[in-house]
Amino acid sequence: MSDVQYYKAVEIAEKSWQIEYAFTDQEHVYCYLLEGRDCALVIDTMYGYGSLKTFCETLTEKPLKLVCTHFHLDHVAANSEFGCCYMHHRDIANYYDSRLPGTEQMLLHAKEEAFPELRERMEEADMVAFAPVPAYPLYDGDLLDLGDRKIEVILVGGHSAGSVVFLDRERRIAYTGDCCNSNTLLGFGNSLPVAAYLKNLLHFKKYQDQFDMMYGGHQVLPPSVIDEGIELCARIIAGTDDKEQVQGMFGRMTTYGARHADGPLSRADGKLFNMCYRPERILEAEERPRVIDFKPVPMF
Ligand SMILES: [Zn+2]
Repeated sequence: MSDVQYYKAVEIAEKSWQIEYAFTDQEHVYCYLLEGRDCALVIDTMYGYGSLKTFCETLTEKPLKLVCTHFHLDHVAANSEFGCCYMHHRDIANYYDSRLPGTEQMLLHAKEEAFPELRERMEEADMVAFAPVPAYPLYDGDLLDLGDRKIEVILVGGHSAGSVVFLDRERRIAYTGDCCNSNTLLGFGNSLPVAAYLKNLLHFKKYQDQFDMMYGGHQVLPPSVIDEGIELCARIIAGTDDKEQVQGMFGRMTTYGARHADGPLSRADGKLFNMCYRPERILEAEERPRVIDFKPVPMF
C-alpha cells in the first residue's frame, strides 16, 4: 500500500465533513461523514480510489455506519469496506446487479486523473475492489438515530427510482446525492418518468424551509434549485421546454429541458437546475404496481 493521500475533508458544520479526492482535481465527487454520540454516518463511498474507511477513521473514532443516496457506482464503489449498507429499497436490486472494473483497471483510470507527481507512487493495492455488500432497505420518512442527532430519509426518486435525501434538520443541511442539480440525469434504466419525478420534487419541497444548503454528490446548491426543478418538469410535461439536443453520456444524443450556455452545468438563462430526460418517458405517473421480471435492469 502506498502513502498517497487519496482524500481530503472540510468540516462544513459541527461534526459534519464533506470528503473529496485529494489526488486529482478532475473528479468532482463528494461523500459525507456525520459524527453522532453513538456512531458516525458515512453518506456514499465514491469510486474506491484509496481506502475511504481508513480516511474516515482519521476524522472520527465512532463506529462507521454506511448509507447511500442511490446505487450508482460513483456513490457505492467502496461499500465493501463497511460490511453492509442502507439504501432505498427501489435501488437495492440494481446495486446487486452492478459491476465495476477490477482494481487493475481502476488504478489505470485513477492514474489518468491524478496529479502527475503522484502517478508513479499509486499502487493497485490502494484501490478498493467493488463487491456488493448486504443492503438493508430504507423507506421515505425513516429516521437514522446517531444517538444525539437524527437524520431523516426523504425519497426524491427520479435520477434513480430509489434516490433519497438525508436531512439534518438541526444543522439545516440536506445531503442530496444526484437527485436535483445542474445536470440531473433521468435517462438511466431505473430512472423515473418526468411526471413521477415532479411528484417527488413536490414532496421534497415540503421540507425546503428546513435546510439552507444542498450538499450533493457533485455540487453544492441552494434550496431554490428545487423550485427551478419543479418549474422545468412542468414545462417538459406541457411540451414548452427547450428540448435541447446534446451529445450526452456514452455518445448518445440526449434531450435537455433547458438550453445550456457554455458548459454542461450552465444554463443560457442563468438558472441553476437542468435535467435530461427521455421524450418517451414523460407522463407515466408510476402509480401502477412494478413488474418484476427477474432480469437485470439495463443501465441505460
Ligand atoms: Zn447517480
